[in-house]
Amino acid sequence: MEQAVGLLYANTGKDRFQGTDNLTDEVARKQLIEEINSEIPSPEDNDNLVKRFVEAQSYAMKLLSCGGCGFRNMETTIDGTYKLCKLIHLPIFMELTKIEVEKFVAIKNQPAVQVYIDDKGKMDFVEPWRAYSVYIHNDGYDSLKYYHLHPEMIQEDDDGDKATYLCPTCVSALSYRTGKEPQKPPL
Ligand SMILES: [Zn+2]
Repeated sequence: MEQAVGLLYANTGKDRFQGTDNLTDEVARKQLIEEINSEIPSPEDNDNLVKRFVEAQSYAMKLLSCGGCGFRNMETTIDGTYKLCKLIHLPIFMELTKIEVEKFVAIKNQPAVQVYIDDKGKMDFVEPWRAYSVYIHNDGYDSLKYYHLHPEMIQEDDDGDKATYLCPTCVSALSYRTGKEPQKPPL
C-alpha cells in the first residue's frame, strides 16, 4: 500500500489529494489512504455505471452531427444529448453579418481551382467557397440568409421547417437550456 501511495503521489501531482505535503506524518498518511480508498468505486457502483451506460446506448440510436461545431456523437437517453433546433429560432449572431456576407459572396464568385484529389496525380476542380461552413437559406422570396452552420447538416423537421441538430455544448452556448445570455458556440 505504501508503494501504491508513493506511485500515486508521483503520478497524480501533489495537489491532487489533501495531506500529500507531509507524507512522513503518520496521521496525514492515514488520511490520504482513507481518501484514496473512499474514491475507489464499489462493485455496486461499477454495476450501476455499466447498467446506466448500456441503457443509454443502443445500436438503433443515431450517430448525430452538430450543425454548429460539426462534433459527432451517438444519440443517448442521458440528458445532454443533441437537440434539433429550427433555424428561425437561432440567435441573430448565427447569421453572417452584412460584411461577412459581402466577403463570402466575393469568395463565392471566385472561379474554381484545380487541386489534386488523390495520390496518383488525379486532379479536379473545387470551388473555394465550399471550404467555408456556411448554410445559405432561400426563403422563397428572393431573400437569402447566410448561417454559420454546416450546410450538409441542415434538414427539415416534422413541421417542414429547416432545422439542424446541435450538440450539448452548442445548445448550452446558445442558452436553449441555461436561459443565460446567448453566446456564440465554438464554431
Ligand atoms: Zn456543437
